[in-house]
Amino acid sequence: MKIVSSLPFGIENINSENIVQNFYDGNFQSSVSKEHLNVINPSLGEVIAKVPLSTTTELESAIKSAKIAFKNWSQTPIKERAQIFYKYKTLLEKNITELSNLIQEENGKIFSEAKAEIEKAIELSEFACSIPQLITGEILEVSKGVECRIDKFPIGVVASIVPFNFPSMVPHWTIPNSLVLGNTILVKPSQQVPLSSLRIAELLKESGLPDGVFNIIHGTEKIVDLICNHSDIDAVTFVGSTRVAKIVYQKSTQKLKRALCLGGAKNHLFVMPDANIEMASTNIALSMSGCAGQRCMAASAIVAVGQVDKIINQLCEEVKKFIPGKTLGAVISEEAKTRIEKYITEAEKNGAKILVDGRNVKVNGKENGYFVGPTVIDFVKPEMKIATEEVFGPVIVIIRAKNIDEGLSIQKKSEYGNAASVYTQDGAVANYIMQNASAGMIGVNIGVPVPREPFSFGGWNSSKFGVGDITGKSSIEFFTKLKKTTIKWNPIQNSNWMS
Ligand code: NAD
Repeated sequence: MKIVSSLPFGIENINSENIVQNFYDGNFQSSVSKEHLNVINPSLGEVIAKVPLSTTTELESAIKSAKIAFKNWSQTPIKERAQIFYKYKTLLEKNITELSNLIQEENGKIFSEAKAEIEKAIELSEFACSIPQLITGEILEVSKGVECRIDKFPIGVVASIVPFNFPSMVPHWTIPNSLVLGNTILVKPSQQVPLSSLRIAELLKESGLPDGVFNIIHGTEKIVDLICNHSDIDAVTFVGSTRVAKIVYQKSTQKLKRALCLGGAKNHLFVMPDANIEMASTNIALSMSGCAGQRCMAASAIVAVGQVDKIINQLCEEVKKFIPGKTLGAVISEEAKTRIEKYITEAEKNGAKILVDGRNVKVNGKENGYFVGPTVIDFVKPEMKIATEEVFGPVIVIIRAKNIDEGLSIQKKSEYGNAASVYTQDGAVANYIMQNASAGMIGVNIGVPVPREPFSFGGWNSSKFGVGDITGKSSIEFFTKLKKTTIKWNPIQNSNWMS
């Protein structure tokens, strides 16, 4: 088994196998579990580590660690808590190359995409440092001598269950904000990419985070189920597929926990005849192919309104420039590659026209890697599986619409609503889409409309369950509870305290 060179901690080498450890009580902890899953480098198809399916006892220990730490951490002044993240941000900057290599190794994305994750983690940490400036309380004299005030309090132990596609960025959606706000956290990484979280633990410790404030437990369905049901977990955040988001949201809220669960996506891009050909085609090619299409914000369906063939032809030229293994990363697993290629084959059988075909890609020197080339499919009917379901690969379908309203009705029928974009030079058309598309994040001439901090991230419909968003100012509401105090100040009495 290849040694994960950049991980001096968090991995035990037993019989030449790299066994991933949990992290609680401020230390890496070996699991006694006999059940493990392979962690595979998707570019090479090679096993690089084994992740344990942690035991119930280990989960109990991790939750206890977070619960005990909450007592002091929640009482620590917020400005002191934020100081940790100033240090942490500089450590992310200092270690950016090594952290990016690690993401690349476990996830299969290309180096620049991995680096962009760390850059976003830095931005998220910067935002957390600004939280003390944003949450000053409210106070008002509501009648003579009587005032009301509101203070924000942490909620307790937060669980953060995360997906494979952003091993570092998605955990950073919740870690800095929840911790600066005085909560403690238990992260359940994706079993497919558990390594980056180990370095997060190490760097948080180096930043001075007290023991028990940050914890990691590895596992899959069983451990998540226990988390959702545990009485000492006060809030659950989840990012992953809609199928699991629904399960986690239902289980957690049934146990009367606060929950925010982000699900999958099918993002529609409205391409208008007046769109700038070069800008639209390069932008859409990047949106659908970046991270091998494994982004919940990736372009997955073009709604071609009217005559836009010049843009589609140019898009095909642009996507052909991506070179699998160099400028296009691998998809996460063999199973994912098979699933994506099956969607393409089925669409072809049902009468769609493959303009660029990414099936059966072979990469020299990485013959066992899971690569799918960019794929453009035209004349897809709105009811086809490939038009309605999340493919999660570098594939875009083109659905033809006579006018904007027909296009909008196609978009609105989608069960999802993460993002939608429009490519046009016409302000009125852009505004019409901005107002009427059924999605939480809208792009105008932008294919991946991820809001930058301090704006918050979150979709609509089956792309998100729960109130509010997971990042930015909106997350402050989720990670705190309000205390409302009413005070009557009695007039000064003429009392003689010395008597
Ligand atoms: P997934 O739903 O399979 O797994 C997500 C997490 O849930 C993992 O930690 C996994 O171990 C756990 N899990 C898996 N099955 C479970 C079950 N039955 N019960 C409880 N927990 C379970 O998602 P994934 O394949 O890791 O990630 C890809 C998905 O995530 C895509 O659908 C993508 O759109 C979505 N995603 C959404 C956003 C967003 O912001 N909306 C962001 C990133 C990824």
